[in-house]
Amino acid sequence: MKRPLEWQLATVKSLRSETPEVKTLTLSLPEWTAHRPGQHYDIRLTAEDGYSTQRSYSIASEPEREGEIDISVERIVDGEVSSYLLDTVKVGDRFEVRGPIGGYFVWDRSIGGPLLLVAGGSGVVPLMAMLRHRAVAGVKDPARLLYSARTYEQIIYAKELEMLSRNSGLTVAYTLTRSQPPGWKGYTRRIDDAMLKEVSGPLGPGALAYICGPTALVEAVADGLERVGLPAEHIRTERFGPSAA
Ligand SMILES: Cc1cc2nc3c(=O)[nH]c(=O)nc-3n(C[C@H](O)[C@H](O)[C@H](O)COP(=O)(O)OP(=O)(O)OC[C@H]3O[C@@H](n4cnc5c(N)ncnc54)[C@H](O)[C@@H]3O)c2cc1C
Repeated sequence: MKRPLEWQLATVKSLRSETPEVKTLTLSLPEWTAHRPGQHYDIRLTAEDGYSTQRSYSIASEPEREGEIDISVERIVDGEVSSYLLDTVKVGDRFEVRGPIGGYFVWDRSIGGPLLLVAGGSGVVPLMAMLRHRAVAGVKDPARLLYSARTYEQIIYAKELEMLSRNSGLTVAYTLTRSQPPGWKGYTRRIDDAMLKEVSGPLGPGALAYICGPTALVEAVADGLERVGLPAEHIRTERFGPSAA
């Protein structure tokens, strides 16, 4: 059996636009193994002249889907790999991947408990894997997602999140930090302690928190959650990159 750190050749099965700057790629894997929601894969691209580069992408899909994974890639301006995955890759293309990787930023039904998820931008991707798994596995413990995006158009998985929150004990709160559509009823500012208190309060101090996004957002939210009373050992973080939300 393949070990997680061996490279295998993934085939692009389908491509879907999520927002103007984010696409989901479904990758078929010959050596698929069930992941834990929150884990990621490394992708390695190699040019004809031998130049090679690799990046990490979180798994967006639930582990119950066998033989394939979804990743959702956001465009980074002048980004080498994200631009390639968004603009050049087509169905049937193949590239190397290895995974699933990561043992700390993971949640599944065996962990359970009230769940607080906080996302900045594409940081919602691994949290979506947790929510999809939570729905398929029929977990009833309450869950809350606080999702910060710049604009309404940049919210990834908006329709699915609305569906998931209808009957499942999941509450989704958005903050749109740059512009809001007419009649917007959600938050309109960067995440602060008051917002964290409002969103996390109903879950109580026993909640387990997962924060993912740009480094600055992750650090600010982790500090804020401690200030509003969540013990540090209940907070897990994943940083995607250097910039602020
Ligand atoms: C564990 C893990 C999981 C990740 N999961 C995802 C995911 O699910 N979806 C996703 O889109 N990305 C994810 N990322 C980020 C991803 O690995 C790349 O860093 C990102 O796609 C940029 O790569 P690039 O080659 O396009 O940009 P590069 O060519 O590496 O960088 C171009 C410029 O953008 C800056 N930059 C690099 N990365 C970021 C970033 N994340 N945010 C802002 N500025 C950046 C660089 O400093 C540089 O100035 C994840 C990162 C980690 C560590």
